[in-house]
Amino acid sequence: MSRSPRIAVVGSANVDLTTFVHRFPKPGETVFGKEFHLGFGGKGANQAVAAHRCGADVRMVARVGEDLFGTATIEHLEAEGIDTAHIKAIANTSTGVAPILVDETGQNSILVVKGANDLLMPADVDLAAEALAEADCIVLQLEIPLETVYHTIDLARSQGVRCILNPAPGQPLDLERTRSVDYLIPNESEAEAISGMAVENSEDAAACAAELLDRGLERVVITLGAQGALVAGADGTRVVPPFPVEAIDTTGAGDAFIGSFATFLAEGLSEADALERASLYAALSTTRVGAQTSFLDRAAFEKEREKTAEGH
Ligand code: ADP
Repeated sequence: MSRSPRIAVVGSANVDLTTFVHRFPKPGETVFGKEFHLGFGGKGANQAVAAHRCGADVRMVARVGEDLFGTATIEHLEAEGIDTAHIKAIANTSTGVAPILVDETGQNSILVVKGANDLLMPADVDLAAEALAEADCIVLQLEIPLETVYHTIDLARSQGVRCILNPAPGQPLDLERTRSVDYLIPNESEAEAISGMAVENSEDAAACAAELLDRGLERVVITLGAQGALVAGADGTRVVPPFPVEAIDTTGAGDAFIGSFATFLAEGLSEADALERASLYAALSTTRVGAQTSFLDRAAFEKEREKTAEGH
């Protein structure tokens, strides 16, 4: 492909507000925190950033609040190089936020306020229809209203645009309305939420994927953390081996996998090559702290890939 691959993400943008504490406050109690960190997140924005760092032209369709975090989110994504023309700020609503407490043992407690993400409506997707039709691939998650997800899948189908659905966070789905996606890519717990089948290893994943294919899905990739991933379709089922790394923080590994896989496929790589590269890209993200902060740019990724190839 002579031009850059074009990825469109219809999804969430959040601001993570992480406070490190000695211990969690009890109801009614005030305690001093040790440290505070503000980070940009949301599965949609994370996947958009991963795709962009892998070399895609990325446009994002999202909603933020008319507040400080909304302005900062748009500025941040623009500074990354993502097209934000279809990110609008909504009055009288907050940007999606995730206040997170992490105690000294590393245990966390997380609140998610969906805010403006919950107001991204099917009609808003229609406003971006032209931009979406120009994409090589549309990428979706479940941090926006389900109706909007289903509507975008229909739009992708009617325009003949490849569509990847990452059904995260896990929740039951109307499979009738999602079966036309090209790829459904859940992790273990998300696969369980959709199918009702427990998924703990590649055998469980194979059984679960077979069930999802039976129910009309075209291709299913179940990510299995340090155990890699499993891909299933009419041609059979195959395990995508993991790249052994010393993981220090797996936050955002799934987003790295989805954003990079969409880009590699849109570049014209075969599915097998795209999965292998996405598996390495996601593994490398676990060797660095955070979500977006752990995603390599393409040049750094290619260097790591050369090292891996030499090691084999
Ligand atoms: P999520 O972050 O959505 O829970 P996973 O944990 O399944 O997703 O991770 C997504 C992908 O990232 C995996 O399929 C794998 O390729 C890679 N990955 C995650 N954790 C590790 C790890 N500890 N070592 C190597 N690769 C990993």
